[in-house]
Amino acid sequence: MKPVISETCIACGTCEALCPEVFKIEDQGDKMMAVVQPADYQKHKDKIDEALAACPVQAISWEE
Ligand code: SF4
Repeated sequence: MKPVISETCIACGTCEALCPEVFKIEDQGDKMMAVVQPADYQKHKDKIDEALAACPVQAISWEE
């Protein structure tokens, strides 16, 4: 399982603030948005779930 971020991300920074080990705001050329960094996602699962719940535009989800 890996967290993924959809195009609806508005780069608010909430996920990065909650779990900087996994989420990072990056300039994607056309827009700023959060990206998922390589990490042990199971180890950070609780914080990732917190970020998922806190995202204002529901841009974060788990992918198999
Ligand atoms: S919390 Fe949601 S909208 Fe905010 S940066 Fe993260 S993915 Fe984007």
